[in-house]
Amino acid sequence: MQPGPVSVSAVPDAGNTRSSGRQSFSIVEMMGRFAAWPLMTALRRALLLSLPLVLVGAFALFISALTSLPIAAALPVETVGTIRAVCDVVVQGTFGLVALVVVIGFPYSFASLTKPAVDRHPVNPASASIVALSCFFIVVAPDTLDHWKEALSSSRGLPAALVVAVGASCLFLYLARRSLFRFRLSGFGADPLVGDLLCILPAAVVTIAAFATIRQVQLDLGGPDLTTALSAAISAPFVDAKPSAFLAVSYTLLSQVIWFLGGHGANMMGPVLQQIVTSASMVDPGAGGQTQVITWSFFSVYSGLGGSGSTLCLIIALLFADREPSVRRLAWLSLLPALINVNEPLVFGLPLILNPIYAIPFILTPAILALLGYFATLIGFVPVASHAVSWTMPPLLSGYLTTGSPAGTVVQLMALAAGTLIYWPFVRIAARVRLAANAKAMQTLLDAAESDEIVQGYRLIDLPGTAGRFASALASDLNDALGSDRIYLHYQPQVCIDERRVFGVEALLRWNHEVYGLIPPSVTVALAEDMGVIDQLGERVLRLACRQRAAWRGFVPADLIVSVNISPHQLRKADFDRTVLKILDEEGLAPDLLELEITESTSLTPAVQALGALLRLRSVGVRIALDDFGMGHTSLHYLRELPLDTLKIDRSLTFTSQGDLNEHVIRSIIALSRTLGLRAVVEGIEQPEQLPKFIDLGCGRFQGYLFSQPLGSGPCLDYIRANTGVAA
Ligand code: C2E
Ligand code: MG
Ligand code: MG
Repeated sequence: MQPGPVSVSAVPDAGNTRSSGRQSFSIVEMMGRFAAWPLMTALRRALLLSLPLVLVGAFALFISALTSLPIAAALPVETVGTIRAVCDVVVQGTFGLVALVVVIGFPYSFASLTKPAVDRHPVNPASASIVALSCFFIVVAPDTLDHWKEALSSSRGLPAALVVAVGASCLFLYLARRSLFRFRLSGFGADPLVGDLLCILPAAVVTIAAFATIRQVQLDLGGPDLTTALSAAISAPFVDAKPSAFLAVSYTLLSQVIWFLGGHGANMMGPVLQQIVTSASMVDPGAGGQTQVITWSFFSVYSGLGGSGSTLCLIIALLFADREPSVRRLAWLSLLPALINVNEPLVFGLPLILNPIYAIPFILTPAILALLGYFATLIGFVPVASHAVSWTMPPLLSGYLTTGSPAGTVVQLMALAAGTLIYWPFVRIAARVRLAANAKAMQTLLDAAESDEIVQGYRLIDLPGTAGRFASALASDLNDALGSDRIYLHYQPQVCIDERRVFGVEALLRWNHEVYGLIPPSVTVALAEDMGVIDQLGERVLRLACRQRAAWRGFVPADLIVSVNISPHQLRKADFDRTVLKILDEEGLAPDLLELEITESTSLTPAVQALGALLRLRSVGVRIALDDFGMGHTSLHYLRELPLDTLKIDRSLTFTSQGDLNEHVIRSIIALSRTLGLRAVVEGIEQPEQLPKFIDLGCGRFQGYLFSQPLGSGPCLDYIRANTGVAA
């Protein structure tokens, strides 16, 4: 028989294909590194921790805002009062505590992220939170209850909270990780926590004392407290600013830059907005001043569509221009909160913070939309946004409510379209950059999936960084793909040179991912193990293979076997043999037409029950092959122990050009297989010149690209028939 016309350079089967992408720009890499800096990561996490509070608070604000609509007049006045009171309490208990969440969350995350690999001076992350909390209360300590509420809130208190959290954590952790500032205590008390906490006492005292000194200096100098000072610093550029398009743009840009850097732009700029609106209301149009375009609701209605960053526009762009399921899932998930202008899921999920690709549209889009709203109002296309509406009022409705005119909604629709168009090209760029990063991550997954660690129970989804995140996204896609035709089999013919015919086919798993294309089967299998769906996947493969072989009955030689790879996890299942027999029965296939390929690693420690299952299966005729023989750890002892029919000699041994040693090994394996009465199949023959060498070495059965790549069932049937002489 003739080897198939397959060239080696054209790696044929997409099971081995890896997506490639362009190299990302170095500026992107630089920003990426900055964003991955522990301080920035901890900042993001601290703000993210407030997400549940922000969502609940925003929802309460939204409900409260609904009670101001005319339809609420149908409700009894007391009911409306009660709803508002409940909402107020919820808002205070959520937004009112955001600063506190940051003060606690940042030190905890920062301590965990900066923990050295070899931690000689362990610092309990909770102790960093406690010290920072104390510093915060010392520094901001207001005199009245109302001021306390301000100090803890997201609008006034957040800047001070961030400054104290970062400052106190850095100082405390620096000291606590130095011997000089630690008590040397070991084995103190019954609970190790007692020792942990007492050790860091000197560092805690010094940090708290430092912040107490700062507070005292501030009191002695009679200056404003930190909260007021920071608010004033942020507002400073806007003092005495005249309301204008320039002012609208500068306010929006600054707010967006704060968001981009990880701060809460809208809240931190709250006092500025107050100042702008107050000064705008003092301009008298009759005296030649401009119309008062900038109002309380102006920014939230025109530039804050879906939250700061006009993120509703980004969500629409993502849904139309990004095909990646995990991103689309995030976009759909973010849509609901975006309808009440809460953008945290997207800001932290994508993420947008410090994401260099989205920097331009995230900062510019709101400014451009603010200009659009500004000029639309100035030329009288739309009335001034004079009716105050809550910032949680859904876009389109808010435009109508604040202007009292449908034109408000029309301007918002125009803003939505413009914002989506601005975001669109950046969504495409982000997808391209992600594809390149994913190709790299895929290679890491493949290396990990084929490494020994995976055999020892390491999970791909636990890998650090991009690779782990990519694995998690793939794993969840695998769950969805399991029952679909995106999971299917290819069949690679196995040939017998002496008989000049195809004597079997190996069924090989294929997963055609809708975005990443073909995923290497070893990665698919490892992910299925991570997700606990390997039995489901294994059964599917077995069933499809048996079904295909049964369907070929009459078209192929009656003794043509189908080989199916079995993962170690499958083999460990107590009812493995019963499952195989059930599938054979249901698909109507004779057991002696099925070969199960177990890998060397599987057989490293053949569990008694796995051995029993293999013995039982073999006793009814199912064939057992030992796959990838020669590259793993199988001892000769197991060769005798395992009920085997076939030895598949690993591809790594076929590089005979690498020296005589491989030739000797192969010759010995062939001899050994003859002695043990096993059939030997050489895997991965690619070059025509390899073949005579192996025939000389005594090999007669082969599987490799030289003969055929793995094929779909149709082309495989054609190949078998072309190489067996079986009539149609
Ligand atoms: P492949 O299709 O990419 O499969 C790679 C490995 O994934 C398989 O190695 C097997 O260990 C695992 N695998 C595939 N399908 C399944 C499945 O349904 N269940 C489980 N548990 N594991 C599965 P294996 O078995 O040694 O298969 C041979 C591999 O070698 C295939 O790669 C095949 O495409 C490739 N191959 C065949 N001939 C050549 C060749 O001439 N050159 C090269 N470079 N590769 C070849
Ligand atoms: Mg195999
Ligand atoms: Mg193999």
